[in-house]
Amino acid sequence: MSSPLQIDPSIHCAICHDTGWRYVDSGAVRRCDCRNQLDAESLGHLLSQARIPPRYANCELPNYEPQGSRNSADLETQRDALLFCQRFVKDFPNVDRGLLLMGPVGVGKTHLAVATIKEIIRRCRVRCLFYDFRDLLKEIQDTYNPIAQNSELRILAPIYVAEVLVLDELGSAKPTTWVQDTMTQIINTRYNQRKATIFTTNYLDAPSSQEESLTERVGARLRSRLHEMCRVVQLKGSDFRARQR
Ligand code: ADP
Repeated sequence: MSSPLQIDPSIHCAICHDTGWRYVDSGAVRRCDCRNQLDAESLGHLLSQARIPPRYANCELPNYEPQGSRNSADLETQRDALLFCQRFVKDFPNVDRGLLLMGPVGVGKTHLAVATIKEIIRRCRVRCLFYDFRDLLKEIQDTYNPIAQNSELRILAPIYVAEVLVLDELGSAKPTTWVQDTMTQIINTRYNQRKATIFTTNYLDAPSSQEESLTERVGARLRSRLHEMCRVVQLKGSDFRARQR
């Protein structure tokens, strides 16, 4: 039997004895520094596990500045997009739909999607994940086992369990039957588990005559599912990078 004076080896903090609270002179209790450090570590871990590309590391909701001349559709749609992302963060986890951010290249769809999951990680300490659509398909394809007819759980599990998944550049891969079936499986699984997904895409529902539509890129079935599970947010405007030059 261990002596009552013996220090329990499973207790790491001599100040709060792992309760997370320490007494101060006034008799009140305060959060122990060890817990603050733990929180910072787990926050850092969650942020690094989110796979946010380094080039989007500085993207935040407050540094997204809607662009366009006064009263223009560009400015209005970009303002609305920012508001929808802010509301999504505020309401999370009580959100019944994800977001489908549609619009031309460079209007800040990825910026907004990244900023949204970063803020959710900070506020709610939940697992979120960023994947470029083509990279995800490639990883799934590379680990596909034709005999078992499945891909490695190592790739799929994080995608299924992430509280919020960002799928960037939806429709950018050639829409083969395999691509459509794979995406349908992932999206349906997340939808059935009531997990929110934020999609970005350069393909519109009704593009100008030269361009392909979202339906042409992902198929009618998937497009209709996206509309069901997401708030559709269409951004208008020109490429931010070109404006900065
Ligand atoms: P999209 O995903 O729509 O193609 P990105 O989000 O990749 O566009 O934006 C391209 C770059 O421009 C990113 O570095 C992003 O941070 C920046 N950017 C785009 N729009 C804005 C904006 N309104 N305010 C601040 N930065 C922006």
